[in-house]
Amino acid sequence: MLPCTQKLQDLSWKPKGIILSGGPYSVYDDDAPHVDPAIFELGVPILGICYGLQEIAWHNGKNVVAGTEREYGHSELKAKRFDGHVDMLFKDLEDDLKVWMSHGDKLGALPPSFHIIATTKNAPFAGIAHETKPLYGIQFHPEVTHTPRGIKLLENFAVGICKAKQDWTMDKFVDKELARIRALVGEKGQVLGAVSGGVDSTVAAKLMHEAIGDRFHAVLVDNGCMRLNECEQVKKTLTEHLGINLTVVDASDLFLDGLKGITDNPEAKRKFIGGTFIDVFEAEALKIEEAAANSPKAGKIEFFLQGTLYPDVIESISFKGPSATIKTHHNVGGLPERMMNGQGLKLIEPLRELFKDEVREMGRKLGIPHDLIMRHPFPGPGIAIRVLGEVTREQVAIARKADYIFIEEIKAAGLYDQISQAFAALLPVKAVGVMGDKRVHQQVISLRAVQTTDFMTANIFRFDWDFLERVSTRIVNEVDGVCRVEYDLTSKPPGTIEME
Ligand code: GLN
Repeated sequence: MLPCTQKLQDLSWKPKGIILSGGPYSVYDDDAPHVDPAIFELGVPILGICYGLQEIAWHNGKNVVAGTEREYGHSELKAKRFDGHVDMLFKDLEDDLKVWMSHGDKLGALPPSFHIIATTKNAPFAGIAHETKPLYGIQFHPEVTHTPRGIKLLENFAVGICKAKQDWTMDKFVDKELARIRALVGEKGQVLGAVSGGVDSTVAAKLMHEAIGDRFHAVLVDNGCMRLNECEQVKKTLTEHLGINLTVVDASDLFLDGLKGITDNPEAKRKFIGGTFIDVFEAEALKIEEAAANSPKAGKIEFFLQGTLYPDVIESISFKGPSATIKTHHNVGGLPERMMNGQGLKLIEPLRELFKDEVREMGRKLGIPHDLIMRHPFPGPGIAIRVLGEVTREQVAIARKADYIFIEEIKAAGLYDQISQAFAALLPVKAVGVMGDKRVHQQVISLRAVQTTDFMTANIFRFDWDFLERVSTRIVNEVDGVCRVEYDLTSKPPGTIEME
């Protein structure tokens, strides 16, 4: 993926085809980004999606206007037949397709030498193609899950029209990556990396271990807000099962003492935890560095492992230059500027070309156990952002226990892999209950479970009532201090997945 303003002459390779993606601008805006016109002379197939379609039309007559009706959502597409044939782009697809639209602009007319290859009720130019050149434009979005056959359409373009080969395999990728890491790090180089017990950091760590053995140093920081037994479990899996050279730092007091008094400010919580994590990690890195320098296999720690995935990379690509959108990734492993610059650490990001499902596939190939591979995401600040209001040792203990029961029941019911993320949160309020004929005034647990593929939008998981009742009974009985349990019915948007 490259910014749309990439100059062709600066590319050292020739593409087999070009896809122009969608974008938030309108092509007729004064400051709208435009592609290098040279791409239209290159002779390779081009597919424009939404803004990309409008960009092709802009290049061919500038007839793009603001529509009177915006279209966001599902639409029924009809592929157009010519002499009984559909265009190559729709090969082996049904004539009627469910597609997703998200645009406000439209073509004012068909650009010269183009014909229509698909329509919808509202979009007469839902798909267009050049009469003689391999130039295509579509108004809908084949890349989202709401367009169920979109991947087939992209395959038609990449494989059928551009003649790209489908020879990428995970095995070959792993081999190439191992060789690249070994060459980069050299015979003596040492690499440092943070692990959390999550999928990404574990897969990245296992790959490093395969590549350079104990010259990779993993650090797990216990912030006192991890799940029940989690630290021991992660330690066991990483060291005993995966053979990774791991240091666990127990910094729970530092975190829990520091969280005291932060009552109504989720951002302050996250900031404090992020900052303290970095302090602890930095101190540990120095210790490891000293120890490594005195070992027979001496070498300086020169590299830092980061579990960046491709979606993070995509987000940081901007035609305004990389600094315009780069965000600080709050996942475990984001290293402070001062460490990178001060100690001259270089980044290794072996997962930066992969999506989550591919990271999981790599993990399976590297022998990481199923439970870990399918693990629900867990936020860096951990239970601290699932205890709403002030975080104390007592509150963390309550949330932790309730969460453990919820997840245990989900696993027992065989539902864990159907749910994308589930957890229990502790609400900062008290309610009245009656337990053992005694009136009590205790806290409330909120359960949350969602289904999603991309975590950008999410639906609530529909448990049956018996299940929820069972979990509720167990939590009230087994967790001291809780007299009520509720189930969160908010989708994302408007809710976020986590509560803080
Ligand atoms: N901004 C353009 C429009 O609203 C393109 C939108 C898009 O690419 N999704 O039509």
